[in-house]
Amino acid sequence: MSPERRPFTLDLSRPLSTADGTIEQRRGVLVGVERSVDGGTVRGVGEATPLPGWTESYDACTDALREPPEAWQLVADTVGEERPSTPAARHGYRLAVLDAAARAERRSLAALLAERGGFPTPNESVPVNATVGDGGVEETVAAAREAVASGFDCLKLKVGAQSLNADLERVRAVRNAVDAAIRVDANGAWSPETAGEAVDALGTIGVEYVEQPLPAEELSELAALRGRGVAVAVDESIRDYGVDAVLDAGAADVAVLKPMALGGPDAAIDAAAALVDRGVDPVVTTTIDGAVARAAAVHVAAAVPGGRAGGLATGAMLASDLGADPVPVVDGAIAVPDGPGSVGTAFDDLLWD
Ligand SMILES: [Mg+2]
Repeated sequence: MSPERRPFTLDLSRPLSTADGTIEQRRGVLVGVERSVDGGTVRGVGEATPLPGWTESYDACTDALREPPEAWQLVADTVGEERPSTPAARHGYRLAVLDAAARAERRSLAALLAERGGFPTPNESVPVNATVGDGGVEETVAAAREAVASGFDCLKLKVGAQSLNADLERVRAVRNAVDAAIRVDANGAWSPETAGEAVDALGTIGVEYVEQPLPAEELSELAALRGRGVAVAVDESIRDYGVDAVLDAGAADVAVLKPMALGGPDAAIDAAAALVDRGVDPVVTTTIDGAVARAAAVHVAAAVPGGRAGGLATGAMLASDLGADPVPVVDGAIAVPDGPGSVGTAFDDLLWD
């Protein structure tokens, strides 16, 4: 049977500035597949939402999904090929296939993914972090207090845009103001010298980890920052070099996994299995996706052992969504949908009449 496709556009609540420009909208494609099972039909729904700088372009994604289904299968069969050329398109198709498989087996997507990874029974709930922007000290503390008051136990502070001293003042102020885990993300902004100073100082403040303190390519320099009082996490290094290179360099204690950028929930689980095998903790995050991909990322996070808070509380960044949020954040955590597949039939009517 031929896959269904439906393009969509979602507006952000407010424009988001990134290293690759300002994002005001998220454009993507919903993908639907149908399978015959025991004389009946089982459906699966996936989402391909490319993010500039992290995946192929929207045009490349829709081109890949415009090909006949046999070509999709070819793209999807490239499991093991570490960085597929159209990861968002692959995510859309593979999520639909995996969702249908889990529905056919009457189990959750998380259970299917945990088995694939050789992991134990998935968690029923996943903790998530709140993101705190890079304002001044007072603004940072106010945002941190607000997040903790609404139930978050883990805060991610953006750093690297200001001087190191200014950032350290912000982090110390938050540390003194709230009782929550604090992680910081420098997005590769620091030089090796500044990163060394940062790591030594952050180790004395009590910070869970420092993410991408150096540019993506500085794998051996990242390795040299480990063991100095604060864990080192990588994100852009995974995007640009893949899990194997990060592991070979010993570059990280923690690795951020974005299923949309890796090429699907299965690719994310395979990456997580390789990381866990070598003692590196995965942290699963979205790429500011619609509700279908966000729910899938929650299933990935639930399947991955380790219990680190995920970067999955991104639904509020959207002014409009694909439908009612199946994975709302409550008290700093998301309950994992436990019906068949990812979210059962909740989004089927977007693709089939
Ligand atoms: Mg990051």
